[in-house]
Amino acid sequence: MRKMRRLALVLSVLLLLSLTVFAEERVDRYDQIFDVTQDGGRLTARFLKLTTRSDDKSGDSTILTSPDGKVMVVDTGNPSTFIDIEHALKALGVSKIDYLVASHPHVDHIGSMAQLIRAYEIGAVYTSEIVYPTSHYNNYMDALADTGVPHIILTEGDTFMFGDHVLVEVFHPAAGIEYYEGYPEGSTQFINNLSLLLKLTYEDSSFLFTGDLYTNAEREIAAKYGERLSSGVLKVPHHGAGTSSSKPFREAIGAEVAVMMSDAIEELRIYRNYSKAGTKTFITSIDGAVLVSTTGDGDYTVLSQFDRVSNFLD
Ligand SMILES: [Zn+2]
Repeated sequence: MRKMRRLALVLSVLLLLSLTVFAEERVDRYDQIFDVTQDGGRLTARFLKLTTRSDDKSGDSTILTSPDGKVMVVDTGNPSTFIDIEHALKALGVSKIDYLVASHPHVDHIGSMAQLIRAYEIGAVYTSEIVYPTSHYNNYMDALADTGVPHIILTEGDTFMFGDHVLVEVFHPAAGIEYYEGYPEGSTQFINNLSLLLKLTYEDSSFLFTGDLYTNAEREIAAKYGERLSSGVLKVPHHGAGTSSSKPFREAIGAEVAVMMSDAIEELRIYRNYSKAGTKTFITSIDGAVLVSTTGDGDYTVLSQFDRVSNFLD
């Protein structure tokens, strides 16, 4: 009997311990991150945690709100992540996307474009001039044609306003894309290097969106623009992969906060290059959705959906 009691005690202690661990892992700030009551007067970026339900990478998607309440979506994951994007837009109470941006036409960036164009009121779609004849690309071009949503092509040197207070500058790519013989055969790097590079500036605060640029394009851009790339917040190029995030590019940007949207740690070396430079670096597959917001004073409020359960990355 005493043995039984001791066993019961041990079991209940184990149960309590496992509940405690479970409770710690269950910290989830999704509702807090998607609470719009904190957005007034702030430029806010919500880097989504997408979950792929297909063989494609889940990809990138960021929802931005301007200080005056305009909505921008940069990239739209693969088609199976539409439900994640829709869930986030619903949580924010968004019915109109004023600016829908595609950094480049790979499926993990344009996958939900057609569904969004057909389901939401859209101000305009913004892309580079690249044409990429695939079914996903054609789907969203068809959706544009069917709905009459304006399609605005951005090239290096363009600027436009996101609401009344946020300036958007286009650093890349230049006008006049030269397609090679046999395009789009073997075009992965070619297309990634033609990703839109956008800088959003609100007074003393700035966010840089880099699509999937590779190091060769990064180096050219860094040599040309240097300090003008300087940004508080960086969407890390190509999901944090080793193809990207060259030293001159990272140093020109000098980000305080960097976010990698990926299904896994693409390359620990890249993560560490940022974190060792003092950049607060997040990976959506580990940290969940990430909110970064600012009043324009150069300071950023940062909130991740989950807490790290260990510091194994550092
Ligand atoms: Zn990608």
